[in-house]
Amino acid sequence: MPACPCGSGVDYGQCCQPLHNGQPAASPQALMRSRYAAFAMELADYLRASWDAETRPADLELTADTYWYRLEIHSAAEQGDDGQVHFSAYFREGSEWLKLTELSRFRRGADGFWRYLDGQAAFSCCVPGRNDSCPCGSGRKFKKCCG
Ligand SMILES: [Zn+2]
Ligand SMILES: [Zn+2]
Repeated sequence: MPACPCGSGVDYGQCCQPLHNGQPAASPQALMRSRYAAFAMELADYLRASWDAETRPADLELTADTYWYRLEIHSAAEQGDDGQVHFSAYFREGSEWLKLTELSRFRRGADGFWRYLDGQAAFSCCVPGRNDSCPCGSGRKFKKCCG
């Protein structure tokens, strides 16, 4: 079983796969991780299903040339049926290296499922260091690989 794309270090089957298969998330952070993994795996149906009906976009287009390679959770909290997760997600879109930092809000529905409500997002340019190991996972230095 491969490592989960959310970067937890746990096998996909023990981490985000049960959520992708329809189990409720145990916490806003678990839901956020499963949504990041769904972006990485292009699971548009899951992204829609885990989006609050109030704010869910009518159409969800995932661009195939977006490559998500790292998730960092800064903090997570929940009070009753409201939750918040502050995170950064790193990705490459075409030839651009970017970082998304977002404070997301989550809400637990009457059915017990946490869903994404909305968030305050900021994008910044984030090119990996030349001597960092390449985010594509090749094991080579960035400057000798995708840089
Ligand atoms: Zn995961
Ligand atoms: Zn590379």
